[in-house]
Amino acid sequence: MSPLVEVKNLRKYFSVIRGFWQRGKEYVKAVEDVSFSIRQGETVGLVGESGCGKTTIGRTILRLIAPTAGEVFFKKRSLFALEDEELRKTRKMMGVVFQDPYTSLNPRMNIQSIVGEPLRTHSNLKGLELQERVIGLLGQVGLKEDALYRYPHEFSGGQRQRIGIARALAMDPEFIVLDEPTSALDVSVQAQVLNLIIELQKKLNLTYLFISHDLIVVNYIADRIMVMYLGRIVETGPANTIFNHPLHPYAKALISAVPIPDVHQQRKEILLQGNVPSPINVPSGCSFHTRCPEMKNEICKREVPPLKKIDEEHYVACHLV
Ligand code: SF4
Repeated sequence: MSPLVEVKNLRKYFSVIRGFWQRGKEYVKAVEDVSFSIRQGETVGLVGESGCGKTTIGRTILRLIAPTAGEVFFKKRSLFALEDEELRKTRKMMGVVFQDPYTSLNPRMNIQSIVGEPLRTHSNLKGLELQERVIGLLGQVGLKEDALYRYPHEFSGGQRQRIGIARALAMDPEFIVLDEPTSALDVSVQAQVLNLIIELQKKLNLTYLFISHDLIVVNYIADRIMVMYLGRIVETGPANTIFNHPLHPYAKALISAVPIPDVHQQRKEILLQGNVPSPINVPSGCSFHTRCPEMKNEICKREVPPLKKIDEEHYVACHLV
């Protein structure tokens, strides 16, 4: 199946401003030479510690922020080459759900205004027609019509995230970036929202990029997983392979920290030494070499390991694999 989204050699650097004379001299290298694709109807999970660049990838794909270099193709069209009108049309096919349902909804707007906002901007719907559409969207996420005139503070965290999802669905998108959509929720509510996201995907044939730091959540929802460290993808493959047989030392360490529900099984946790280095001063060669428990070779300090194919759809960036 041909990819719906293709990302090629994406880079995003943010310049660090330390005063007038230092302007533009240093950069936070948030995303460094990232390439991947997502097929129609697929869920690809993007995991890594906070600050590794996963949210920046999501926002750059949606053109909410401009890239430093690289290309993103949506339905084979280069997103960064689109002019205003074409970009507006293409954006309608893409949605986003943000992490924090408490801050992503305007507290001064009622639910009808929040969910109907994209429709007022991008469609000709007005009055009763628009209201009917909003009621339909609320129904799709399990909320009733009486939510229309209420305000965000009157809802629980889970209900607010449902409202965020309804807003993302307003323009009938084909592709949605879900940026930590359940991490601000209680565990019991997380499962309900995840199941809603899965149900909607089946019903509406949606394609997802699911961003999270939580490997259990990503393994539950994703077909494929990409593991990121300091702006680069270090391992990618089918969810089952990454979760049960990771090969990259960083992916192994992340997965070793995931609790096993079976008390008879044991897994030794790999404790990484030190902190994640600053993305302003990324270590030379393999950027994980300052913390890697398996590093034995000088090449790790000198050369950036390329993503090598190990198996069908399984790629690892490590000199020793
Ligand atoms: Fe560790 Fe070297 Fe592999 Fe990097 S390339 S993960 S430092 S063994």
